[in-house]
Amino acid sequence: METEKAKTALAAGEDAWIRFLQQRGLRKTPERLALCEAVLATEEHFSAEDLYELLQREARFRVSRATVYSNLQLLVEAGLVVRHQFSNFSSVYERMDRACGHFHQICTNCGAVIERDDSRLRSQIREMCLNRFHAASYSLYIYGVCSRCKRQMAQKNKANKKTKK
Ligand SMILES: [Zn+2]
Ligand SMILES: [Zn+2]
Repeated sequence: METEKAKTALAAGEDAWIRFLQQRGLRKTPERLALCEAVLATEEHFSAEDLYELLQREARFRVSRATVYSNLQLLVEAGLVVRHQFSNFSSVYERMDRACGHFHQICTNCGAVIERDDSRLRSQIREMCLNRFHAASYSLYIYGVCSRCKRQMAQKNKANKKTKK
């Protein structure tokens, strides 16, 4: 069942992409289709560079870096992909339908991003959005310090205190 669902989601995403390209008067090139397909199959955050490298390995033809970057921007405009700007680190991307299923905890020290799911919070947001508003997506970022960095900071503090004595 899950794979069936995934298949329909993939087909719906590809349809939306093709419709978007037509509306913009852009050509439906094999590169654009492969790019969309690769993105719709991802199950994690990715950078433009990750996508470029994936296509170098898996696509049956060469896709330039410039093509990847410009089409990623188009996928964002088409509403299929979300661009995250976690703290000062470079942009990461995520499939739109996936991004709505969780929120992000971001460590401002090391940049680690932890995905968290909270079904209660999700249904609250859904109910909230029903009020005369058509919600397409949402993102929730919680900034702080991850447990690893917290531990390291505590150790440093301890060491500093010792040398002062
Ligand atoms: Zn995410
Ligand atoms: Zn950290």
